Amino acid sequence: MTDTDGTAGLDRRLADALERLGHGMRALAQRTAREYALTPLQQQAVLALAQHPQTRHEVAALAAEFDVSTPTMSDAVAALERKGLVTRSPGTDGRRRLLSLTADGAEVAGGLSSWDDPLTGALAGIPEADRATTLHTLLRVIAGLHRTGVVNVTHTCTTCRFFGRDEHLDPAVPHHCHLLRMPLPLAGLRTDCPEHEPADAPAGRRKRTAGG
Ligand code: SF4
Repeated sequence: MTDTDGTAGLDRRLADALERLGHGMRALAQRTAREYALTPLQQQAVLALAQHPQTRHEVAALAAEFDVSTPTMSDAVAALERKGLVTRSPGTDGRRRLLSLTADGAEVAGGLSSWDDPLTGALAGIPEADRATTLHTLLRVIAGLHRTGVVNVTHTCTTCRFFGRDEHLDPAVPHHCHLLRMPLPLAGLRTDCPEHEPADAPAGRRKRTAGG
């Protein structure tokens, strides 16, 4: 049933709206990438190296982050090296080659950082309570897609092993972080948490035990 009033219709329209948003964001990304003579993937790599220089500094990590194959990301990084924006240096084990931005790369990253300003500007006109509910809803959708393997890498609260769902009565602050040992307001849910550990991580990869 695809009538405009039923549940199926609502889901269809939500999916359509998200798809439309995705188209818009891809167009925005392409526009700013073109300004700097980059591809959208090269732009994402530059921004990731600027924002997470300690954790996403290997080709494999970048490939996983953006859901592309390692050879595809390797080509993008090689192009960035040729453009003088990225350099490689040996890791502490002497074997791994870690990526970092050059001074020119850091300057380009600064210019790219406002690529999604039109989106954040549009969001700014919406009441905070609505934005917080939307964030919560989107993170639940991402967790669902993560469970089914559609989204591979996330660093969101809703896919984190420290996330305690619905542990508090306050509807504006229902969840809990067992690592930080504090309630999580809807408006404070994280999308890119440096402390995130996957809820489905194998025991050997787990570094901490949830408290609280
Ligand atoms: S560790 Fe970070 S991602 Fe995990 S629940 Fe706490 S705040 Fe959220």
